[in-house]
Amino acid sequence: MNLNRASLITFSIVILLCALNATPALTEAKIVALKDTTIIQFESAGTLRPKLVSSSPTEFKLNINCQLSNLELSPKGLIKDIKAQKDSVQTTLTFFLKKPCNWYARSTPSGYEVCIFPQNVTKIKTIVLDPGHGGIDPGAISKSGIKEKNVNLAIAKLLKKKLEKAGLKVFMTRDQDEFVPLALRTQFANNKNADLFISLHCNASASNKYASGFETYFLSEARTDLERAALMRENEALKYEKDKKNLDADLDLVLADLLQTEQLKESYNLALAIQTAAVNILKDTDRGVKQAGFYVLRGCFMPAVLVECGFLSNRVQARQLNDPKYQNKIAEAIYQGIINYIKDYESRYGL
Ligand SMILES: [Zn+2]
Repeated sequence: MNLNRASLITFSIVILLCALNATPALTEAKIVALKDTTIIQFESAGTLRPKLVSSSPTEFKLNINCQLSNLELSPKGLIKDIKAQKDSVQTTLTFFLKKPCNWYARSTPSGYEVCIFPQNVTKIKTIVLDPGHGGIDPGAISKSGIKEKNVNLAIAKLLKKKLEKAGLKVFMTRDQDEFVPLALRTQFANNKNADLFISLHCNASASNKYASGFETYFLSEARTDLERAALMRENEALKYEKDKKNLDADLDLVLADLLQTEQLKESYNLALAIQTAAVNILKDTDRGVKQAGFYVLRGCFMPAVLVECGFLSNRVQARQLNDPKYQNKIAEAIYQGIINYIKDYESRYGL
């Protein structure tokens, strides 16, 4: 055993002993009901390390690493009922809520708190379509010269008509060949109070000219190399923007916003619905639902997905993507996916 390893083991044992000894003393627990927020506050002498486990929008569990022997918490505000389970090392509290809620937890100078506020669950009425690229930013270009920006716009226009026919309100981030900065696209959707945000794109592969198929992304950190490649390509549009510094500051703010967890789940559900419909209707290669940190999907305060309709780098697929009939088929597939998602969403929330 070398010295480094020995000291690492000693260090780990010390950490372990500290962790075992550091059962924090809880000095106070209370529930504060404000106008539309309910806060559960814990004050402690040591560091509390609660684990928040949600099981549904109307119920969540909190595991706390100490015994709450004299705990007396009575339901208040959005909390309907509380159940406590205690063992020798920890306490598990289950909170039952009066209606579907979002929550976030954070450490405070004197302990820990969980803020609960109602989910604004309403019917899905407004959709923002975002035809990717435009103006000076052509996006991907096929060998024969087909530009992604034009295909995206054509599909978006067809999709808009279908959604409007179904009674939905649809806005487009651009309806002509113009450059729209990425941050403005999400800002536009937020300003329109959109319920869903769909960014439309076409794919390209530098390494495989036979790559083809349909894929749908929802926001997250990119995981695989292929996902990273797609991410870099779509984020390229940032190079056309001058004020990058400010954009990144906004991005951090948004990423810090834990409220997005719930939207992430819905974004995934929407992505899955679109991908499933696309595979059924297009009978094209199923490239699946993927996660990536596309800039355009960040900063959206609503479920958001990015659709890659096919590969412009593939000669056969490029021809298809430029064909109004195939564009209509793609629009139909995305439309079906959105409608299926809305039906599922509304039945889950009893709307
Ligand atoms: Zn694109």
